[in-house]
Amino acid sequence: MLDICGTKPGRKLIKALASKVTKITIQPGRTSQARWGRLNSSGGGWLLEIAIELSENHSYYGMTNIKVVHEKSIASTLFHELIHVLHALDDENIYEGGSSIRKNMIEHMTNLEEMCTITGFCYDIFRKRRPLKYVDILSESAFLIAKNQPGRIAHRNPNTVLIADAKPLEELPQDLITPYCDWLEAEIQQRLNIPKSLYGDIESLLKFLDENPYAGRSIPPSFWDSEEFALRAITNTELLEFIPPKFLSNTDFIKKAVQRNWLIAFIDSPLLSQKEHVLSILNLLSPTIRKNLYDKLGPELQQDTHVQSAAGISKLKQ
Ligand SMILES: [Zn+2]
Repeated sequence: MLDICGTKPGRKLIKALASKVTKITIQPGRTSQARWGRLNSSGGGWLLEIAIELSENHSYYGMTNIKVVHEKSIASTLFHELIHVLHALDDENIYEGGSSIRKNMIEHMTNLEEMCTITGFCYDIFRKRRPLKYVDILSESAFLIAKNQPGRIAHRNPNTVLIADAKPLEELPQDLITPYCDWLEAEIQQRLNIPKSLYGDIESLLKFLDENPYAGRSIPPSFWDSEEFALRAITNTELLEFIPPKFLSNTDFIKKAVQRNWLIAFIDSPLLSQKEHVLSILNLLSPTIRKNLYDKLGPELQQDTHVQSAAGISKLKQ
């Protein structure tokens, strides 16, 4: 713990945890992992159990001007587990489901939660358009660099994912931050931009967008000229926000689109104020989601008896 509190990232982490966690138990384990739960059923503080693997093999892939394998301390493993805990207790639920998310992933990172824990980069925080807080970017790599070690670039055991040369610590460059940030930025850019080589191959391009939906904003404008491309793209929920207005004001397009992805029915379209359009879309939706669309309509349409019966709304409840 002394090792952790001797660094600025460490002090920030412990301060953030101290405001939420009542007790942390740390013990040896066969693998390193964190578990947490409420102190009692009515809420109260959080109780934590962290197991740390004590074997000597704590090597990891780090980034200097080349990729290198390094030994790491048990303190950085503990730091890593404590960040998982911080994410789990996050009030905004930004990291919720992170261990099951494998989109827009940097290679060798396993899942979103590991990527955020290791690199400090979480795209969803940037999408929230709120000022960044120091805890948003707390990461195992920030701690490693504060300890004068290279930032980490892979989650899995180095023996299984990458081939690289070990480099003695004394040969490391003075500045460990720049190469790490350059590496991270290049990795992120690769996932935010469709490679030009895919422009001529729609199938591969759609596959790339499936794996990297945040690259949606880099779809070339000319692609949206094609209704067929737009209809293929809307099967990917993350691309809904990029659909051009000309399609959103086209009844025919919306009808075809709803049959491929019903979520499009909830997109703010100028057509949502037109009774005939709303009625025809309600007919395409399953009863369970008709009510959701109804809730999104303006007061005038909500009062309309035809709309109410198409949405399955009982007049008595109004
Ligand atoms: Zn982890």
